[in-house]
Amino acid sequence: MGFDTLLGNTRLKDNLISSLNRGHISHFYLISGPAGSGKHTLARLLSAAILCSGEDKPCGRCVPCRKVMENLHPDVITVEDPEHKTVAVKIVRQFREDVFVLPNESDYKIYIFPQELGVEGQNALLKVLEEPPKYGVFLLLTDNPEKILPTVRSRCTELKLQALPEALLKSTLQSDFPDAGSQDILAAMVRSGGYLGQARQLLQEGTAAPPQTVDFVKALSAGDSLLLVQTLAPMEKWKRDELAQILGNWLEILETALACRSGGQAVSPLARRLASRCSSRDLHGWILKLRKARDYTLSNVSPGAVCGCLSHMLN
Ligand SMILES: [Zn+2]
Repeated sequence: MGFDTLLGNTRLKDNLISSLNRGHISHFYLISGPAGSGKHTLARLLSAAILCSGEDKPCGRCVPCRKVMENLHPDVITVEDPEHKTVAVKIVRQFREDVFVLPNESDYKIYIFPQELGVEGQNALLKVLEEPPKYGVFLLLTDNPEKILPTVRSRCTELKLQALPEALLKSTLQSDFPDAGSQDILAAMVRSGGYLGQARQLLQEGTAAPPQTVDFVKALSAGDSLLLVQTLAPMEKWKRDELAQILGNWLEILETALACRSGGQAVSPLARRLASRCSSRDLHGWILKLRKARDYTLSNVSPGAVCGCLSHMLN
C-alpha cells in the first residue's frame, strides 16, 4: 500500500519513503498545505508507516496499521480543542504531561495536532520540542507555515503538500463523480486551485458551478424573484457569447431536473435540488422561456434586453 492513498505529491512521498526505509524518523513533522490538500491523509499514513510491522510501510494490513487507520491506536493521539479556533494552552499543557508517559504497545507515541496552535500554545509546545522523549513523534498540521514560530518551525521536518497535476485531478474527479457534467468538473478544478479535497467538496455540495448558476438555481427553487433580478442585473453587461453559454448551461440543468422528476437518474446536485422543489409544470415553463432567451441572444438581441426579460421569468 505505501503512501498510495495520498494522490500526487510524488517527490514528497519518495523522499519520505526513502528516509523511513533508512530508519530516519524525525521527532517533529510540519505538514503544510491548503484545505483539502491531504494533510490529514498524510498524517494518518505517516503514523501508520512509523508503527507498521509489515513490508512496504504502511502495509495497511498489519494490526498497528489497521488500528491507526480506524483511529483506534492507543499510541496515536490527536491533540485538539474543537470548541476553540486555536488549541487552548490548558490542553497543550495536559498533552505535555502525557508525553512523558511511556507508549502503550509500540516503540513510538505519535501526537497529531490537526488544529492551529496559537503563539501561547506553540510556546508551551516548545518545551517538548527542546527535549523530546526518544519515543515521541509530533505531527503539526497547518494551512500556513508562516503562522508557526521560527523557533518551532526550525525543529520540524517540513512536508509541504502540492496541488495535483491537472490530468490526475480530472481523472480522479471523473471517477468519483461519474454523473457530474464536464463543466462542473472543470469549474471545481479551477476553483479548488488543484486541491482534491476542495474540489470534491465543491462537487458534493453542487457549488462547483459558477456563482451565477448557483444563485439562479437558488432563486428558482425558492421562488425568490429578488435574487433572480440580482443575479441577472450584472449579467446585462456580459458579452453575447458568454451569456449564451451560461444560458445553455442553465437550460441543461432545467432539462435534467425535469427528466429527474419523471424518474430519470438524479445527476447534478443543482438539478436534484430543482427537481425536489419545483413542479414539472414550472420546470417546463422555464425551459421554454430559457430556450427563447438563448435563441434571442444568439440572434443579436442585446444581453441587456435578454436579462431584463428573464428577470420576470418567475412571474
Ligand atoms: Zn502495516
